[in-house]
Amino acid sequence: MWILVTGGAGFIGSAVVRQLLLDPKLSVVNVDKLTYSGNLDSLPEMPNRNRYAFENADICDAVAMGRIFKKYTPRFVMHLAAESHVDRSIDAPDEFIRSNIIGTYTLLEASINYLTSLSTEECARFRFHHVSTDEVYGDLDDTNDLFVETTAYAPSSPYSASKASSDHLVRALGRTYGLPFVISNCSNNYGPYHFPEKLIPHVILNAIHGRPLPVYGDGLQIRDWLYVEDHADALLLVLEQGAVGRNYNIGGENERTNLELVKTLCAILDRLSPRDRGSYTELITFVTDRPGHDARYAIDPARIRDELGWRPSVTVEGGR
Ligand code: NAD
Repeated sequence: MWILVTGGAGFIGSAVVRQLLLDPKLSVVNVDKLTYSGNLDSLPEMPNRNRYAFENADICDAVAMGRIFKKYTPRFVMHLAAESHVDRSIDAPDEFIRSNIIGTYTLLEASINYLTSLSTEECARFRFHHVSTDEVYGDLDDTNDLFVETTAYAPSSPYSASKASSDHLVRALGRTYGLPFVISNCSNNYGPYHFPEKLIPHVILNAIHGRPLPVYGDGLQIRDWLYVEDHADALLLVLEQGAVGRNYNIGGENERTNLELVKTLCAILDRLSPRDRGSYTELITFVTDRPGHDARYAIDPARIRDELGWRPSVTVEGGR
């Protein structure tokens, strides 16, 4: 049974591929363009060619997508390929519009065409799982509020607007053309193979090299952190057991300010690799805030917990 994973060389996609391949009944075709963030070293050696295939392709390429569906006849699609870094989306939004909106549309079109070649039973079993972000909801001012699945979309960066747009396309085309889909919206991930420009690896690498630890603005923006392997677990569960047409919020219930997070990393480094003198916190440097910076994200994961029985397994301090 082939599962088509897009963006399987990326940070979260590679965690998904690694987990899928633990099940000997599953085969994975990884469709990835290998942009700056794609890293094939994040995937284990794959000696068994019957169970893993890599297709170096752009999801915006309709001909390539049609060929890949025909070649592998996948049971499921897990769509993770995207431009994913907010700062890059502020500097140059074009690629976000292309990959995240046009790419998702192209993949949907290929999936809908592919459905016409399947029997009614095969169509009913097929799933298009669109992996998205909690950033589509914008931000929360009131510290008691949480994002629920019915929270109105209010994206505030080019990245989150492109993801919101792709969510709408999945929902609208799924409904119009009878494509069985599920959507998940997750909070910030961390863990192995995180691209070094993201906050946690960036702070760790700078600290180790004795460089300043940049914190945007006053550092009081709140994020909810989830270990990437817990996210991959949740994604597999949503794929297998999620109700068609439903969306699931996935969060770590690990809210903290960016400044608290950086101080936590400093405390761990002070223990594991102490500096000659002083704490790593002395390297913290406040820098000009990101334009349009969201104040707080926080997920209510009640739906995925109550309906599918998922919970995160580790806290921010525990995930490695
Ligand atoms: P990433 O940037 O690490 O990986 C993205 C992958 O997609 C890369 O391997 C890249 O080569 C590939 N890709 C990009 N454009 C492509 C294209 N046009 N065609 C084919 N491949 C392409 O991203 P990530 O952090 O692993 O995020 C994966 C998904 O999860 C994204 O859709 C993102 O919006 C979503 N998400 C991420 C987080 C997070 O904290 N990182 C949180 C919630 C949701």
